[in-house]
Amino acid sequence: MTTFQHNLEKYAALVAKTGINVQPGDTVVLQIAVDQAELARDITAACYDLGAAEVIIKWQDDMIDRLHMQHKAHARLVNVPDFQKQEYDYWLANNAKRISVMSSNPDNLKGLDGDRVAAVQKANGQAMLKVRQATQANKNSWTVIAAASPAWAQKVFPDMDEQAATAKLWTEIFKTTRVDQEDPILAWEQHGQKLQAKAAELNAAQYKALHYTAPGTDLTIGLPENHIWMGGPSRSSDGRPFMANMPTEEVFSAADANNVDGYITSTKPLSYAGNTLNNLQFTFENGKVIKATAEEGNAVLQKLLQTDAGVKRLGEVALVPDPSPISQSKITFYNTLFDENASNHLALGSAYAFSIEGGTDMSEEALEAAGLNRSQAHVDFMVGSSQMNIDGLTHDGQIVPIFRNGDWAD
Ligand code: ZN
Ligand code: ZN
Repeated sequence: MTTFQHNLEKYAALVAKTGINVQPGDTVVLQIAVDQAELARDITAACYDLGAAEVIIKWQDDMIDRLHMQHKAHARLVNVPDFQKQEYDYWLANNAKRISVMSSNPDNLKGLDGDRVAAVQKANGQAMLKVRQATQANKNSWTVIAAASPAWAQKVFPDMDEQAATAKLWTEIFKTTRVDQEDPILAWEQHGQKLQAKAAELNAAQYKALHYTAPGTDLTIGLPENHIWMGGPSRSSDGRPFMANMPTEEVFSAADANNVDGYITSTKPLSYAGNTLNNLQFTFENGKVIKATAEEGNAVLQKLLQTDAGVKRLGEVALVPDPSPISQSKITFYNTLFDENASNHLALGSAYAFSIEGGTDMSEEALEAAGLNRSQAHVDFMVGSSQMNIDGLTHDGQIVPIFRNGDWAD
């Protein structure tokens, strides 16, 4: 067995155990690209090793996705067929645990008709509504991980040939997911505990708002009453710890959808809907985006902002110190899973129901009334840098330093 094959097996075991924490009798849904067949086999084996009853593979392929987007009859493209919806119902009925493996070329859909791309995103969003709501409420364990594809690797390392770039991206994935350590599962336990301790500090403080300042940024973000910060492992409704993102370096909560004022500028490229968006600027008033521009990908951004009413408000607020290993790698991954874990970020669109006390038992209406944004979209964009300061504003008017020069203040 080569070192690469050995690492791939360690990765698969980590994802099955720490990622979704497979228990005997589980249904597992694995979404993965066809060019990652070896990893798919390893993950399937690792899930069965832990006693899974069934592993369902949903194959994906960038080139075929692009062909569909270019040529499929419009009516077929935007109408998700009933048999597909029935499959989603099957997942829900069997409490499927979901593993999503990201490896797409960030520019896979570049140059295609933006109306068609947006229409498909919307149709899929509606068809997957219940699945997504169950995921966001942590009804069942789920995890998002990455795999290196040649097309993605060459976007990240444009000066290398395809083989070298792919090998380098795998090395970075193994490093940031701690697969290169002797016992990755133990390493993740310790890492998870550190993130949980930070979240506990912020939960005890219950700040009324956070005030962000940096070049191009002066923004105050209200936090809902009884908000919950989380970091490291999540817990599903059956009490099972799991890791929703690997890597993860963030401590995050929900923004108050009605109390965000000021302006903010993104600091890293955002890969969205098969396009790269750069230098985004947003101005907020009473929680709502009243002005938005992007230096690159502006048309895609404007389309995104038309998704629904909720997409113009913030759902998530996340803190990631600039000295985090992903940030220090100085690599732009053009993939949100990595780039959001290199940087403080915010998300337009839906808030996670578990970001407020009792939230996972609340109706959509009750969540909205509590200030948790509802939307079909959830799009993270990166705002952190070594020049960012963040203050916590307390209910009795005190100002407490949380971040100084991009790192935790204490
Ligand atoms: Zn986040
Ligand atoms: Zn997010």
